[in-house]
Amino acid sequence: MKHRTHIILQGVVQGVGYRPFIHRLATQFEVTGWVMNTTQGLVIEAEATPDILNQFIHQVTTTHPPLAQVEQIIQTEIPIVNDQTFIVHPSEKATERAVHIPADIAVCDECLSEMLNPTDRRYRYPFINCVNCGARFTIIRDIPYDRKQTTMQKFKLCPECDTEFHNLSHRRYHTQPNCCSVCGPHLELLDINGKKVRSQDPIADTIARLAHGEIMAIKGIGGFHLVCDAGNNQAVLKLRERKHREAKPFAIMSNDIAAIRAYCEISAAEEELLISPQRPIVLLRKKGPSTGIAESVAPNLNNLGVMLPYAPLHHLLFQNAPYLALVMTSGNLSDEPIVMDNAVALETFRGMVDSYLMHNRDIYNRCDDSIAMVVDNEPIILRRARGYTPLPIKLPNPVPDILGCGSELKNTFCLTKNQFAFISQHIGDLKTAEAYTFYQETITRFEKLFRIKPEIIAFDLHPNYLSTQYAVDRISNAKKPIQGIQVQHHHAHIASCMAENKVNEKVIGIAMDGTGYGTDGNIWGCEFLVADQASFDRAGHLAYTPLPGGDIAAVETWRMAISYLYSIYQAEMTKLPLPLLKEVDEEKLNLIFRIIQKKINAPLCSSAGRLFDAVSALLGICLESNYEAQAAIELEMIADASVTGHYGFDISEVEGKQVIDCKQTIVDIIGDLRKKIDKSIISGKFHNTIVAFSIEMSKKIREQTGLNSIALSGGSFQNRLILSRLNKGLKQAGFKVYTHHIIPPNDACISFGQVMVAENQIRNSNIEYRNKKIMKQ
Ligand code: ZN
Ligand code: ZN
Ligand code: FE
Repeated sequence: MKHRTHIILQGVVQGVGYRPFIHRLATQFEVTGWVMNTTQGLVIEAEATPDILNQFIHQVTTTHPPLAQVEQIIQTEIPIVNDQTFIVHPSEKATERAVHIPADIAVCDECLSEMLNPTDRRYRYPFINCVNCGARFTIIRDIPYDRKQTTMQKFKLCPECDTEFHNLSHRRYHTQPNCCSVCGPHLELLDINGKKVRSQDPIADTIARLAHGEIMAIKGIGGFHLVCDAGNNQAVLKLRERKHREAKPFAIMSNDIAAIRAYCEISAAEEELLISPQRPIVLLRKKGPSTGIAESVAPNLNNLGVMLPYAPLHHLLFQNAPYLALVMTSGNLSDEPIVMDNAVALETFRGMVDSYLMHNRDIYNRCDDSIAMVVDNEPIILRRARGYTPLPIKLPNPVPDILGCGSELKNTFCLTKNQFAFISQHIGDLKTAEAYTFYQETITRFEKLFRIKPEIIAFDLHPNYLSTQYAVDRISNAKKPIQGIQVQHHHAHIASCMAENKVNEKVIGIAMDGTGYGTDGNIWGCEFLVADQASFDRAGHLAYTPLPGGDIAAVETWRMAISYLYSIYQAEMTKLPLPLLKEVDEEKLNLIFRIIQKKINAPLCSSAGRLFDAVSALLGICLESNYEAQAAIELEMIADASVTGHYGFDISEVEGKQVIDCKQTIVDIIGDLRKKIDKSIISGKFHNTIVAFSIEMSKKIREQTGLNSIALSGGSFQNRLILSRLNKGLKQAGFKVYTHHIIPPNDACISFGQVMVAENQIRNSNIEYRNKKIMKQ
């Protein structure tokens, strides 16, 4: 007696080779029936004797093609039909889909070995791909995911590729971007003037040019890279000069793990990240000064951002190449989005590069490289883009369509639908017109791609953020009413960490970063909240200190050092024997004094980032930041991790809040400076101080509230020492600690946090509303 079952698979099930995969299983088990892509997902009907059917179902529910991501399986028994064969049905036309779009995935081993095989018809063809690998999100214009909806539309399949595409047993069956050197995209080498260079072998010529110290713009998967030999100090310095990028580290790429081991330490967890199909840039510890990588790649840092080749083209750039590593930095002007169009590249990189390697496969969705690191054997994503976007985060409950507009720096936005949150790729700093255009354009694209119509828009409290302006404009111009919900920056941080870790009970939230607009109008940034995902109380914070000059003080870090010194010694501070005071002339010093005394353009801040800045400047490490958080990063880099003690601080209750005063910390540091104690020890003790006051605060709040769970979020937790030590210290004190892993701890997590706060507030108010109604009855 036969049985028949109906199975729906939902998630990333389209364009990933699922139908041939099921067909193979059905053939193997001699099951009859059919498989089809529908608006609900991948639908299978299968018929066999109960024993065989169970084995088949077991395989279907426990295995899947490499790129697939199954979110849900719905299975029902149905009457038998007596099918004689197993058929693959064509796709149903899509209106509203329960399917997701796959992310861009590194070239797979099978394609790689074909590309490097001289007898293969795709030998050295840099656009080789298959159903298990290649560009996806970056080339998709719309769903359903068919070739005609991608930027591969303009290339007509040659007969051989067409045969592969239609052959159910071929590994390129229904590979939408399938192509070869006969029918697919091609490379083109251009000279310094953007004129086409006649070349028999553009790749060999590119390798030769890079080996000679040229700077090149090379088109990749999600945009252009600016590329040069990472071992050639002069080339790297030339790139810095031309890009006007003095100190911010460049990411590099090497051919394989062995090559990276020549200059960096790699732990097992780091290796796993490096070779993962998402291929993020991984922050690794440098081995020493003279390891073949120019010091100018990452000046004053003891780690390097390294990635392995992911596009087939990248692998070819390392075939018989003389260099150990290439600088592969995003091709953009500072703070502008990564360039993705050929014509724009020629305009933008004029005078910056010596030549170009381009191709004629258009990028539709720009997408930067992702960045990750490993702390205490756990991976943490610091920038979530290529390889991860647009795969969604699954939510515990179905939610309305919500847009979270994100923050101002390291912006992402987030859209929800049903039980999923789609976080955008890294958009960047919304300061330039280009970035803001990219932001608006990408929101429109995501809404179209995922068929989302926001009914609720969550956004920041800061009145001057462009993301706030976007939200306000959109709410006031909407045809159908949209509800706006404002979310405090640090509450969004903590809600994001809670939601990522699926924590529902109240927690103590420690949010540490550079800046976020507080409910009192001051600048917050070292906050101890008692929070759930709907609301929060500010239980405590770092004592307010004036931020002389406002935003400029985050760049001119010496200003914050002066502010701290002034809060302790007032004008007497000029008598202190501090090297910092020799660097800042009297006129500037007097200006800062006036700003602080008259409280003109000196907003109050409780920011952890600014405390790091002050100490960094006080030690003479970094008086002016060239890139975001440079002063804090360089302070971390020199820290002696073996130091155990910490400096003084004071915690007292002010108007019902626990306030941490770090004046004693500064006094102690000045004392150590006078004693000529090494800066690495001072930095180590300073880091320990942050950890110590955080543990002390947590214990006080636990006494008051009985809460024992802690969520950590904010840019300061990109600091390994702080994250690792606080995590351990809190656990030793008996706390349960939650940290970020798949969503960045920095401001890229704000959009997700905003959405979660809005969703929880709406759900709570609906419950209240329903309860009220019940009470009335
Ligand atoms: Zn492949
Ligand atoms: Zn072809
Ligand atoms: Fe933040």
